Amino acid sequence: MGNFSLSFNIGGLQEDEEGQQVVERDVVIIGAGPAGFTAGLYAARAELHPVILVGQAFGGQAATTSELENYPGFPEGIGGMELAERMANQATRFGAEIVYEEVTKVDFQTYPFVLETYGATYKAKAVIICTGTSPRKLGVPGEEKFIGRGVSFCATCDGYFYKDKTVVVVGGGDSAIDEGLYLTRFADKVIVIHRRDKLRAGPILQKRAFANEKMSFVWDTVVDEVLGEDFVTGVKVHNVKTGKEDVIPCDGVFVYVGLIPNTKLFEGQLELDENGYIITDKRQRTSIPGVYAAGDVQDPWFRQVVIAAGAGAAAAIDAERFLAEKAFEAAAQEEEKEAS
Ligand code: NAP
Repeated sequence: MGNFSLSFNIGGLQEDEEGQQVVERDVVIIGAGPAGFTAGLYAARAELHPVILVGQAFGGQAATTSELENYPGFPEGIGGMELAERMANQATRFGAEIVYEEVTKVDFQTYPFVLETYGATYKAKAVIICTGTSPRKLGVPGEEKFIGRGVSFCATCDGYFYKDKTVVVVGGGDSAIDEGLYLTRFADKVIVIHRRDKLRAGPILQKRAFANEKMSFVWDTVVDEVLGEDFVTGVKVHNVKTGKEDVIPCDGVFVYVGLIPNTKLFEGQLELDENGYIITDKRQRTSIPGVYAAGDVQDPWFRQVVIAAGAGAAAAIDAERFLAEKAFEAAAQEEEKEAS
């Protein structure tokens, strides 16, 4: 990992009655993907001393992407993890702190807002939520059982283990095809199983995939079960048009059937749409003033690193304005009190 500073000794520490550490900050950012790091960079440069709470995944979904070819400024492309590390370094250079803690509870009904982690209580005057998305699971027998033993959601992390082997990729979107192409660097055969007869992936990726001799396609087909004993040995499938069942032998199964927003923590606290994404306005504001959301957690349409980064910047700029207005109001009230 990069050489950015990880802080466990956070400024402004106190303890509450139960001995839990209390950290007071102007801005707390939840999530450490492109949106979170960019929000951190902008908030740090505005001298708001932000804390970025990493949660489970440093770099978010972007860091699991083998190669990003559409992030401006990198004409040769850049690895997702490398980009995440560069973003983290840039944010910490200006004073953002990156802390490996996971938020377990939030209270946006009180002000300052309260965020609980396993180790501390954070009191924040503004919060920027950048918790992103997680891979959707197939929900078929065998999938859960063989995670780490042949079932994977990350080709960049696990592709190397399938040198000269046969792997199945489930899905037909950009992720499935992009990561399927990455897997051809290691695997002998990459079989894409898609539930329709047309890919959802963009034309450049489709062209590359159809031209790659290691890739083959099983159309109109869904996976019913992941098979194996100690390790994956195949998948049981059926054709959705003919109903014909089959078994496709393979050593690994990479699942890329979409993403779900990481918003469980915010249910009942913020307005979410029918799919669980946080609803924001053009300034990244949520239904609670002072609470912002940026990146894939509020974007079911584009889901691009460059857009997540832009939204993170917008959220931090608006948070700064929000805090300046709050400070102005507080000063005016103080003056009024003194005058009366
Ligand atoms: P996605 O675009 O939602 O595609 C999910 C794929 O999985 C679709 O092909 C879908 O089939 C299939 N699927 C969904 N549920 C399924 C199920 N239960 N069983 C079998 N198949 C199922 O998700 P994604 O590919 O992860 O992409 C997410 C976002 O990131 C997109 O906006 C994408 O453009 C972006 N992204 C971009 C790049 C890039 O620009 N290079 C790379 C990666 C991701 P249907 O097609 O029939 O719906």
